[in-house]
Amino acid sequence: MPTRLLDLSDEILAHIAHFVNNDTSIPFPAFTPHWANFPVAVESSNRDQLRFRATCRRIRSLYRLQGLHLVVKSWGILEQWCHQVPDSVINGMRRIVIDIKPFNETESTSDQVDGEMLSMWSIFITFLSQFTSLEELIILNTPFCQHDIENLQITSRTLDLPTFDYLPTLKSLGFQIKCRFCANYIPRLFIPAAPKLLHLKTICPTKIGAMITNIIKTWSSIHPDKTHPLRSLYYRLNEDADLNEELSEINETFPLLEELYFSAHGSCNHGFHDSSTAKSEAPMIIAKSDSLVVPDKWAFEWHGVLDFELILFPRFPGRCTYTPCDFLDFVEKLGVYRNLRKMDCSINFVLHSEHGMPSIFMPATERGRLEYDRFVRAQRSKTIAYQGVNIDKLRRTGMTEAARIIMDEIPTLEECIFWTEVEISGPSFEVWSKYTIIRKYDDEGKSIVEVDPYVERFPVLWTSNEDGQCDTLDGLPESDTDDSESEGDAESDMSDSESEGDP
Ligand SMILES: [Zn+2]
Ligand SMILES: [Zn+2]
Repeated sequence: MPTRLLDLSDEILAHIAHFVNNDTSIPFPAFTPHWANFPVAVESSNRDQLRFRATCRRIRSLYRLQGLHLVVKSWGILEQWCHQVPDSVINGMRRIVIDIKPFNETESTSDQVDGEMLSMWSIFITFLSQFTSLEELIILNTPFCQHDIENLQITSRTLDLPTFDYLPTLKSLGFQIKCRFCANYIPRLFIPAAPKLLHLKTICPTKIGAMITNIIKTWSSIHPDKTHPLRSLYYRLNEDADLNEELSEINETFPLLEELYFSAHGSCNHGFHDSSTAKSEAPMIIAKSDSLVVPDKWAFEWHGVLDFELILFPRFPGRCTYTPCDFLDFVEKLGVYRNLRKMDCSINFVLHSEHGMPSIFMPATERGRLEYDRFVRAQRSKTIAYQGVNIDKLRRTGMTEAARIIMDEIPTLEECIFWTEVEISGPSFEVWSKYTIIRKYDDEGKSIVEVDPYVERFPVLWTSNEDGQCDTLDGLPESDTDDSESEGDAESDMSDSESEGDP
């Protein structure tokens, strides 16, 4: 007789349930650093679990719903979830994505909008606070994105933080908001209400926004005598960030931090955030060695300010008006991190000697005969000077040396990332190379610093991120989901009942 599902032992049924649950295959946190622009991996797909549980009473009693996901794409669905969903589903919800496009309120006055906004905000809080196992919340779009830019009225500014911890179980909170105002204002309405937050993705606020230090001051006033528990921070730097300052503030705010991901990989084509120069906004280490072949001594120059002059003259670091800081000042700033294990400060590692290298391409601007002759002469002598120089090997040696200095200062640090810009086919197609520097220990427990042989390469455009860079709805794709269809989906995601003909 063939084995049927219900002949299996409770243990095996529980094991099957584990695989029916797709939550286990998605990393926690689900979000990535800003330069990795993947779509959110969380989807409303609880049907397998609900159907498995609907099989019969025995499985139902054995198996509790858990690790459920919900992507909210309309206000109507959100309201349904406030009333019509059984507790078994509500209590099994682990991850929620909010992706509700704001309504078009062109007809109503700003007073009306404000009033409506307040009542929607209170429904929104009611919705979120009912989930007793919610661990991850990712915010893409909210209906609170209503701004009168001409009068500088930022409606979401009028919303208030509720007086209770409405996200008591939340461990991971990601803001992936393109709108400049929302990205700056919305986080303060969520972060202080999450007492157990371990992972946070947000932007470094511009002058208009609420600074992360102030948001955590609010958190501390609500949770006195507690250290903020945050373990990993995914932070998008803005155009006027000073990395040395950010590092001090972040450490004071989150002393338990183990993973730090700063992204400075540029944005959209707004003003000087042109994607072709975006990479040059990154903080920079300029490394000089005493020899191109067997370097013995290295000197590192540190550019921690995302300086406008650097953006204008990225190829000529010597021409910027900003005086570089001492690399050791930067290292000292890092030294206060007592628990840091992984660090990516979006640092562009530049070999000073690369500027003297022969170029691969004839510059498009130098088309005259005399210019051509001069160019060829210069390239020829450069080529001779660089004969036998393995630039990648030299770069790896420099990176190892710089990382060793950093790792000596932070004994807990295991991994450090450096980036390098490469021109694959001239300036029109530029690529970021990502080098991972790892600390290992030998048999005697001595620390060894190595550059991983594998280097990741990304087109500059692929890494560019628009979070907090767009004016209101600019840059938001039109919603392509049919509301009626998605409500149908939600229906089957909500119901948790036994099927008929239960044995
Ligand atoms: Zn907005
Ligand atoms: Zn944009």
